[in-house]
Formats: sequence, structure tokens, C-alpha cells
Amino acid sequence: MADMREAGCVAFSDDGRPVATALLMRRALEYSSMLGLPIIDHCEDKTLAGEGVAHEGFHTSQLGLRGIPGAAEDVMVERDIVLAAMTRGHAHIAHLSTAGALRAVKAAKDRGVRVTCEVAPHHFTLSDERLLAPLAYDTNLKMNPPLREAVDRDALVTGLMDGTVDAIATDHAPHHADDKQVEFDRASFGIVGLETAVSLTLDRLVHPGVITLARKVDLLSVNPARIIGVAGGRIAAGDVADITIVAPDLAVTVSAAAFRSKSRNTPFDGWSLRGGVAATLVGGRALFVNPAVAAVAALGRA
Ligand SMILES: [Zn+2]
Repeated sequence: MADMREAGCVAFSDDGRPVATALLMRRALEYSSMLGLPIIDHCEDKTLAGEGVAHEGFHTSQLGLRGIPGAAEDVMVERDIVLAAMTRGHAHIAHLSTAGALRAVKAAKDRGVRVTCEVAPHHFTLSDERLLAPLAYDTNLKMNPPLREAVDRDALVTGLMDGTVDAIATDHAPHHADDKQVEFDRASFGIVGLETAVSLTLDRLVHPGVITLARKVDLLSVNPARIIGVAGGRIAAGDVADITIVAPDLAVTVSAAAFRSKSRNTPFDGWSLRGGVAATLVGGRALFVNPAVAAVAALGRA
């Protein structure tokens, strides 16, 4: 781990392959805290999740799908909070999706444990009712962690509002159509997240008054940079210009066919959203200039 930090590593993660034993997570937190880096923690007890493909509940029963209970996430979040408190290590909970996990994080923060968390746009936008309608068995609704119940989604929105949630992260998982156009049981987990994150955050959180525009910048830029200890999340003379220019009132219709990604796996295709990206600068270069926003047209010519 020290060698990896020397090589430029900014955090350690078990994403997709959660650490099964408490002892190994204890050591990971001890070592990472010595190195001053966080553990980005995919919290899922695989013995509880089993062969599940969607959130365990009423709707998986209706559809005859194997379920992943919310408890599979909750017990791992609770375990790693206990270990973070014991080791004084920093656990960052990735793609937190349940009300129970959020309660655990809030209580841990209140007693000073070094824990932070993020949520994904699909988890604060959708719930498991979508598994039935408008299209049952739509594999664009298969992700891990799965879409949870409406009460979980509502809890995440509250956490975004009250400050318990530190960051919004996309859990971006593009897949080839061949991995999605199969039976629900066999489809890959995950959706394209990057290209809809800004519009969903503006439409679902900023415009309804759940969060302010400034809080949105904190959730998408300032706090993520702080959590992994990298430069970014601020605009200052001499800094590298990694900047997303936002058009808060732009009328956006999500079009999977027009994605820059080679993948099309999104449940938001055809959605009308208020707010979008005007331009994206990476390392000072305009890599994306939205032709629908006249104010940034000059960037495209630069
Ligand atoms: Zn993960």
C-alpha cells in the first residue's frame, strides 16, 4: 500500500469485490490511516446478497427475481464503522443506498468516527417500483447496489439536504449491449452514469429546492476532491482548469444514442430534465462544448 501511494495512488478500494473478513478490513484501515489515505468501501455482505439481482422486497417477489436485502449493505457499513472507530482510519462508503446505512453513517459522524459517504444519482432518483413499469425486467434498472425502496430513496434525499451525504458519485458502469440485452438474471450490473449526473442533480435536487447550487458544487466537486486529497474543486489563478460549466436552466432531453460513451445502458433515455452541461474543460482544453448553449460557443473555437 505504501508503494502504491509512492506511485501516486490516492485511495484504496475493494469496489466490486468487498472485503469479506473483518480482520482484513481492520488491517486495511490501519495501514491506510498510517498513509493518510481513505478506504473507499463497497459495503456488501456477499453471504447475504447471494445470487440476488435486485432489491429484496415486494417487487422481486412479484417478478420472481432473487433479492439482495438492504441488510447486506447495512451490516457491512456497521462493521466498517466499528473498525474505522477502532483504528481511527477513514472509511468512505461508496454508493450508499439504504436508509439503514445512512442512519449508521449519521450516528458515526455524530460521535466523531472518520466516515464519509457518497450516493449515486440513480439511487436518489429511482426506486424498485420501476422494476415493474413502464417496462418489466428492464436490465437498465439492474445495478449493484440495486434500486432500493421509496423510503430508502427519500432518506438519501434527506441526507443530501442535511449534510450527512458528503458527495454525489456516479458509479459509472458502461456495458456492451450484448451484456444487457439478455435475461435479467444474466445481465451485467450497472449503468452509464457520467452523462446524466449533472442534469439529474439539477433537475431532482436543485430546482425543487432540496439543495442549493453551492451545495451541488460541494457534492460533485469540492467534497470528492477533499475526500481523496487531490487538488480540484476550486477555481484559482495558476490552478489546472478542470472545470464543468453548468447551464442550470437548459432544457435537456436525455438521448442514449447521442452519448459520447460507446455504451447506451441508461434507464433515463428520453427523460426531459432541466439543467445540463454547457462545456467541459480538462487541463485547460475545452473537450466538450454544448452547441445548444450560445454563451460558450467561443470556447469551441478556442
Ligand atoms: Zn461498488
